[in-house]
Amino acid sequence: MNSTVIRKQLETELKRVETRLVQLETELRRSPGSASEDSFLGDLHDFALTSENKEAAYDNRSRLVSRLRALRDALRRLREGSYGRCGECRDPIPVKRLRAMPEATLCVSCQEQRESRDRTPTSRTVTA
Ligand SMILES: [Zn+2]
Repeated sequence: MNSTVIRKQLETELKRVETRLVQLETELRRSPGSASEDSFLGDLHDFALTSENKEAAYDNRSRLVSRLRALRDALRRLREGSYGRCGECRDPIPVKRLRAMPEATLCVSCQEQRESRDRTPTSRTVTA
């Protein structure tokens, strides 16, 4: 596998995600109610996000943040030489999968197992 191509792809994606995050942060800051010091921006109310949009924006942001982490992690693994191996079973991740999702850390079957674990109804509300 040509790691230069993968690195370029990761870096491009990283930039794109960072840009989107900055935009999102700006939108969220502009919307009223997110912080009390925003009240002087009342005249921007018409442009502000509705609370539903805001919720979606926060969701979006947390997705972007975890994508950002995954991309940075992938770049680190690329430098360290562990890139392209499944984090659980240590099998090589198929190149086709890496092309589609360069930050992938798991092979398809491990990913599916993890996702079915994550989908359990109790996983979202963990009580200590
Ligand atoms: Zn695996």
